[in-house]
Amino acid sequence: MMNNINDIKSIKNKLNSKGYKLTAPRYKIISIIYNSKKHMNIDEIYGKLKCYKVGLCTVYRNLKLFEEVGILRRININNINYYELEKTDDNRVHVHIECKLCNELIDVNEEEVLDNLKKLVSLINKKYNIQIESSSLILSSVCGECNKR
Ligand SMILES: [Zn+2]
Ligand SMILES: [Zn+2]
Repeated sequence: MMNNINDIKSIKNKLNSKGYKLTAPRYKIISIIYNSKKHMNIDEIYGKLKCYKVGLCTVYRNLKLFEEVGILRRININNINYYELEKTDDNRVHVHIECKLCNELIDVNEEEVLDNLKKLVSLINKKYNIQIESSSLILSSVCGECNKR
């Protein structure tokens, strides 16, 4: 279950502000993604929900809703959708490294890298006279595990 009360509040607020409620099935779906260490696809999320009698349609519908209201971020790798919680800071930049062999997604969280990307975003904003709202960068590679094989 989710243990950070502020995270639950922020998720509830995002839903409420768009006129939706944090229902029991929605709470279960979010909890599973919240407690997962890795990015999950629909099959994996659904697999963990089966014992709670939450149907596949409900999962699909709510993942779409969570994405619309800014609770979840969807990352598409080789035509498979993976989900993670959306970060809350204003200047959102997301960098992922994908393994092209096993589809593993690695989050890049190093401040130095993200700071440089933010600089790049503001440079592009200036050059094109626009305001980029969010960015997602996916870099292709082979992960350490696959490299060993
Ligand atoms: Zn790999
Ligand atoms: Zn991620």
